[in-house]
Amino acid sequence: MKLLLHICCGPCSLYPLTRLRKDGLEPVGYFFNPNIHPYMEFERRVNVLMEVSRRLDFSIRWQADYGLDEWMDVIGTARLPVDRCPRCYRMRLEATAREAVAGGFDAFSSTLLYSRYQQHDKIHGVGEELAARFKVNFFYEDFRKGWVEGIEMAKALGIYRQPYCGCMFSERERYLKRANRLGDLLRSADCP
Ligand code: SF4
Repeated sequence: MKLLLHICCGPCSLYPLTRLRKDGLEPVGYFFNPNIHPYMEFERRVNVLMEVSRRLDFSIRWQADYGLDEWMDVIGTARLPVDRCPRCYRMRLEATAREAVAGGFDAFSSTLLYSRYQQHDKIHGVGEELAARFKVNFFYEDFRKGWVEGIEMAKALGIYRQPYCGCMFSERERYLKRANRLGDLLRSADCP
């Protein structure tokens, strides 16, 4: 099977790639992630994935323009994860399905299915829906079972593991308690 595997980031690619290779599959990676902000973080994650590609001999197709405006257009006024993330998944998986069709692949999939922090069932549903629309198979596997193994692999390679999903909203959610503490300090009498 010729499989195009959407890659959300280097660390999340490790377990799915290894797992698929054990079954004799050699996926081609596809990097399309206009959801990663700000630019320096985007560049850093691209560099990490380049390193993974070199060290694991993993072939990757790059759609690596910094698509902040396009992503913002898709997200619109959706701010909460329940509204925002499904739009973000759809944008990235649709691009992958289109690339799979154009490249003559039998199926497409995504390393988003590896993360314990994503809305797994939503990703699965969007993938199946796009498969029907574009007439190309969606390869589904619950890669979350390799969560710990994937983290160990990333540590062994010594690669950067990002602390938030990608967009500025996810960064704010990641550091919300810290931001609240800072706000309290700035409002308090202790602030110089
Ligand atoms: S949290 Fe992640 S999946 Fe959700 S909108 Fe932000 S970048 Fe996309």
